Amino acid sequence: MLVREIQAKAILSVSQIYDYVINPYVGCQHGCSYCYARFMKRFTGHKEPWGEFVDVKVNAPALLEREITRKKRGSVWVSGVCDPYQPLEKKYELTRQCLAILKEHKWPVAVQTRSPLVLRDMNIFKGAKDFEVGLTITTTDDSIRRLFEPNAPPIETRIKALDELHKADIRTYAMIAPMLPGAEGLASVLAGKADYLIVDRMNYHYADRVYHEHGLDEKLSDQFFARTAGQLVSSCRKLGIECTVV
Ligand code: SF4
Repeated sequence: MLVREIQAKAILSVSQIYDYVINPYVGCQHGCSYCYARFMKRFTGHKEPWGEFVDVKVNAPALLEREITRKKRGSVWVSGVCDPYQPLEKKYELTRQCLAILKEHKWPVAVQTRSPLVLRDMNIFKGAKDFEVGLTITTTDDSIRRLFEPNAPPIETRIKALDELHKADIRTYAMIAPMLPGAEGLASVLAGKADYLIVDRMNYHYADRVYHEHGLDEKLSDQFFARTAGQLVSSCRKLGIECTVV
């Protein structure tokens, strides 16, 4: 794993999904096989495989302190092309410092991660009026998770993290992206732990390749998505959970 400390030029970037996005890291130790963020390699000149390099933007909090007073208040996504709670965050605490600044300035924030390390920052989320915290959960089946996300935390720990956040009165959501086999059972395990679910198909190109490399039959196709999303939406309806398919 190549880890480099870098000085970024800017940190509050315009986003197509929220008003802004903050990525305290370039690259992601989770290295999920389906990750669309691997396109970052093209822009950063990294030759290492995706998941085997991380540039740490050590000046991210200092940049944010400056930029937040100059830009129009808007919603912020943390993060878009890295996991803000990948293992290096334990040491660098860049996400933590950025979130504290956003809270102080009362900006709305959506945090999205696959890691229970997010629980470390519970004290920041508590009392932050417009914060919500999402755990990405792609399946109920941890053997499927191991195929696609071998370096990301087990599904059970993510569900437990959601539960703890929700019990602490923090608004929570589960991001089901990409929807993988086993996702149809997520409604019952997430009931009472997430305020709402978002199902995002994402691009199955890489995921489908990994699936076939392991000799599994099901094609991650339009039909698979329609069937699995349909089952999940129907279970959510029965359990009274808000569920949006995008
Ligand atoms: S955690 Fe997110 S950003 Fe990191 S490799 Fe997985 S999909 Fe990509």
